[in-house]
Amino acid sequence: MNEYYDQKRCWIEIDLQALEHNVNQLLKLMKSKEQFMAVIKADGYGHGAVLIGKKLNQLGINHFAVATLAEAMTLRECGIKGEILILGYTNPAMAYQIKEYQLIQSVIDYQYARLLNEQHIDIQVHLVVDSGMHRLGHTIDEIDDIKAIYGLSYLHVCGIYSHLCVADDLSIVSQNYTRKQISTFFDMIDQLQSRGFDVGKIHLQSSYGLLNYSYLDCDYVRIGISLYGVQSSKDDQIRLDIDLQPVLSLKAKVALIHDIQENETIGYGRTYKSQKKEKIAVIPIGYADGLPRCLSNQGQVIIRGQIAPIVGRICMDQMMVDVTDIDHVQCDDIVTIIGQDGKNIQKVETIAYQAQTISNEILCRLGHRIPRIVKGDYYEV
Ligand SMILES: *Cc1c(COP(=O)(O)O)cnc(C)c1O
Repeated sequence: MNEYYDQKRCWIEIDLQALEHNVNQLLKLMKSKEQFMAVIKADGYGHGAVLIGKKLNQLGINHFAVATLAEAMTLRECGIKGEILILGYTNPAMAYQIKEYQLIQSVIDYQYARLLNEQHIDIQVHLVVDSGMHRLGHTIDEIDDIKAIYGLSYLHVCGIYSHLCVADDLSIVSQNYTRKQISTFFDMIDQLQSRGFDVGKIHLQSSYGLLNYSYLDCDYVRIGISLYGVQSSKDDQIRLDIDLQPVLSLKAKVALIHDIQENETIGYGRTYKSQKKEKIAVIPIGYADGLPRCLSNQGQVIIRGQIAPIVGRICMDQMMVDVTDIDHVQCDDIVTIIGQDGKNIQKVETIAYQAQTISNEILCRLGHRIPRIVKGDYYEV
């Protein structure tokens, strides 16, 4: 056991070899001219955007996407090289920062483009167009608004993109909807090109777009969740067989062990009652660290390679687990909340399923007070 862990109540372990493995697997699915745009918004889906970005730079990936200006500025300040596209809204008054940090801003409609242009600062932009998700961008019926954006002199349009909203679902209805989105997007591009507009880089697929519609031929593919080696939902259907490895593990240490008698209750609300004399371990991690409170009396962890169910309500900073059947369990034993220990694996997809959400949400809400540690290196980032 490395000394470093001895001081920690809980930590996130990042497996950079798994990240590299995933990049290589995903690159195999891409056309030779397509480039990998790594989506590292929301602190790299909770993994640590700077850590992930630096490793990706080393692997030769030089295109990134984030959600906000602040996220993009942090990456630059920490030395991330290459293109950084801001996918979300940025206040036009921040145009100076967009330029100074050499960022690319998404233009979300004509009105927004006009306000950005009025700052009289030259910036690079990608146009978002609406092919059917109805979140950002103009639809094909509003193509004149899109054309007008190309006429704004301070905005240098170097790309155009759209987003698929049911690429993760292979039902006939969803496949038809996705194909409609694809054809609408390429129609829009044809119309623009035939009128002489240089649309620049084209991109449409995110992770499931690549996994399920890999035949598309774009310039960039925006990869988020697959980069981190997990599925959004445990039952997601994927057309391609691909081997991805989870990058993140979440671990803690047993703080205390005590026995309770039969018919005693545990924790807030007294929601759990012991059936017999039981051995209970207290784990110093709670919902403030991003562990959903609805896993109370439902979730489980791994200690000494064996499953220990969560008993009673998860508290803000602690939780209790039943270790009656685990021999020799003691203080400071490592608890695996997400990840593998021996034969048992606790998948983030399972936690997401129990919490009625997707892995993306569980990962990106993991608390900022949890240190991120590189597996094998034992340094904090
Ligand atoms: C978040 C996001 C992505 C990445 O999606 P994944 O499903 O995680 O791969 C791609 N494009 C846009 C516009 C996004 O907002």
